[in-house]
Amino acid sequence: MELLLRDTFLEVNLDNIIYNMKNIKEMVGEEVAIAAVVKANGYGHGAVGVAQELMENGADYLAVATLTEALDLRRHFADYKIFIMGFTPDKYLEHVVKNDITQTIFSYRQAEILNDYGNKYNKIPVVHIKYDTGFNRLGFRDSKESIDEIEKISKLPNLNVEGIFSHLALTNKEEDEKQYRKLVKVIESLEERGIKLKYKHIEDSISAVDYPEFRMNMIRPGAIIYGIKGFHYGTLDLKQALTLKTKVYNVRKVSKGEGVSYSYVWRAERDSIIGTVPFGYADGYPRNLTGKGFVTIHNQKAPIIGIICMDQCMVDLTDIEEVCEGDEAIIYGDGTNNTLDIHNASLLGSTNKNEIMSRIGMRVPRVYIKDEKIVNIINYI
Ligand SMILES: *Cc1c(COP(=O)(O)O)cnc(C)c1O
Repeated sequence: MELLLRDTFLEVNLDNIIYNMKNIKEMVGEEVAIAAVVKANGYGHGAVGVAQELMENGADYLAVATLTEALDLRRHFADYKIFIMGFTPDKYLEHVVKNDITQTIFSYRQAEILNDYGNKYNKIPVVHIKYDTGFNRLGFRDSKESIDEIEKISKLPNLNVEGIFSHLALTNKEEDEKQYRKLVKVIESLEERGIKLKYKHIEDSISAVDYPEFRMNMIRPGAIIYGIKGFHYGTLDLKQALTLKTKVYNVRKVSKGEGVSYSYVWRAERDSIIGTVPFGYADGYPRNLTGKGFVTIHNQKAPIIGIICMDQCMVDLTDIEEVCEGDEAIIYGDGTNNTLDIHNASLLGSTNKNEIMSRIGMRVPRVYIKDEKIVNIINYI
């Protein structure tokens, strides 16, 4: 196992990831495949670090956004099915084929390029067709010409058109249903032309829980794998998998009137005890939590005071008994014992939960826990 050489680290509870995966699988049933979304380094948890647990507990695919993410997984896992949900420019498509990665496409041009590389490398590249049902981000525009083009793609000899999918805007149930109906209609039109695709999918985490009737035969959950709830109508039992931890590195007395951190934005209103904790915005902690954030020490909230620096910040320990250098501080917890959970961190930081998790940087080692024991450590640098 790699050495842990930093006291600020992200602890990932693999038992919780397994618990979430099993509950997701149970929710959708055997008939629905799961493309487990591990883009953005597995929403911060470490894509490579969680991949095996996902694939062994109900995932059929690992889904990412970029070729680079796909290649990182391929280097570690020769046999897993990997799916790029985003666009890959023509000049990179050769790598997709060489590495047996399933690619999203929405043009005949790219289908042809992949087909040709299939010929060259004696492979049958696998693709999923992206169809735009309203999001206006990627995908075939909704038109008869698009259906014609998909038909043409399906006739390419060296290409496996395995699936078709779309992405919901999550506007409201009425709008989401319109998008779903559009995709169903396209699938029907294709089937009338004799084109049958194995996988059809439109749902992410929130929609997979809220709209069981739109699951088709594959879903693409991300957030819920990591125990993050954003759904409104359905229910699904989940456990947050991550805890961001650090240690107090320095404890000092600061007299009334003294300033702390840049510009002395914070000044002591009383004689205070100030702790320095070794994490900052370069670790992905939102700088705009200056004046709002806190860490949890001895199950008590220690407010972050002064401007959050790149690598460190200071916390007010005056009201917490007997904090010593080396004591543990929880930056993000699951909300119990006065910890800041991801949901509340996102509210404080005026952003969403996925951003809070995915911005946790490469400088933060990942420590994986199973049965309360450390089973793996990943250092990126
Ligand atoms: C990120 C992403 C998902 C997963 O989103 P969650 O909200 O985290 O479940 C699904 N599909 C696509 C196309 C995505 O980009």
